[in-house]
Amino acid sequence: MSVPKKRRTKSSVKRRQSHDALKKINLSKCPKCKQPVLSHTVCKNCGTYKGRQVLKIVDSKNRKKEKEKEKEKERKKKKKEKK
Ligand SMILES: [Zn+2]
Repeated sequence: MSVPKKRRTKSSVKRRQSHDALKKINLSKCPKCKQPVLSHTVCKNCGTYKGRQVLKIVDSKNRKKEKEKEKEKERKKKKKEKK
């Protein structure tokens, strides 16, 4: 393992670290549901982008049902492949 040749002074460390601070992210509001959203990304709350519906939003209650439906579809596909 390599070993540092000289001790780094407090000031040189702090000088390097002066650029390490995290910047605040710029959040805009979703025009439909008014939730904070990253710009140029789809709103995760309502699934719209630029006023268009892009994602299917499933309630937490219906999530299990949707998953079961998808599983059944996959089973049917596999059956077809076997034939
Ligand atoms: Zn939204």
